[in-house]
Amino acid sequence: MAYLLSCPACQAEGLDPRRSETSCTQCGKAFRLTPHCPDCDSELERVQACGAVDFFCNRCNNLVSKRAARYDIQPQ
Ligand SMILES: [Zn+2]
Ligand SMILES: [Zn+2]
Repeated sequence: MAYLLSCPACQAEGLDPRRSETSCTQCGKAFRLTPHCPDCDSELERVQACGAVDFFCNRCNNLVSKRAARYDIQPQ
């Protein structure tokens, strides 16, 4: 089961963090997602490994999982 983020518009878990531009599967509103490192707050780079997308922090030199990242969610 994919990990989904809570939608700021309808509060349901309907946003896919694997995409930078995503729309809520529940209410259909479009958002731009920017992942940030939980440790240093830098913007994370998306990396794709074995079909799963995780994030990489260039400052910490560390992989960050989708569940650990913090997301800046802007309506489009
Ligand atoms: Zn929604
Ligand atoms: Zn970091």
